[in-house]
Amino acid sequence: MDTGTIAAIDAGLKPDEAALVRRAVQLACEAVEIGNSPFAAVLVAADGEVLFEGSNVVAKSGDPFDHAEMHVMRAAIKQHGPARLAGATIYVNGEPCTMCAGTILRYALGRVVYAVREETLLPYLSQGTIKSYPSAPVFALAPDVTVVGGALESESLRPFEMFVARKRT
Ligand SMILES: [Zn+2]
Repeated sequence: MDTGTIAAIDAGLKPDEAALVRRAVQLACEAVEIGNSPFAAVLVAADGEVLFEGSNVVAKSGDPFDHAEMHVMRAAIKQHGPARLAGATIYVNGEPCTMCAGTILRYALGRVVYAVREETLLPYLSQGTIKSYPSAPVFALAPDVTVVGGALESESLRPFEMFVARKRT
């Protein structure tokens, strides 16, 4: 049996979700390659339609609120209307910040799947300057939202490693 399948099940993923987490990781790598931060998201409607996928574009747009989740939700709302986000699932390569977690609740998404937990990813980003604000207390406000955190974490570190390597060059 391939170990990816075992890891996915262990992390609480549905069988078809590992590919969506890996897609977010791939998009995050591409974001780093063009000078953005190492985050990306894939938003899938409750009926399975991929509404939008994209990455953190803060460095390029100059908009400090353009986190991957915000970028993807904003674009999906423009294209499909806010009602399409109800019950949707967002796949992210890293744990959402509290701003994004709050917006996820605001638009009634039903499921959040992220790979790398905040405690793991912060050292790659902050050099100790960003305070830790885990998303769990925000998501706890909506017990009907399912959150799967740390999915495929160990194989999903590459965007963060690339980000650090790029900063050093
Ligand atoms: Zn955020």
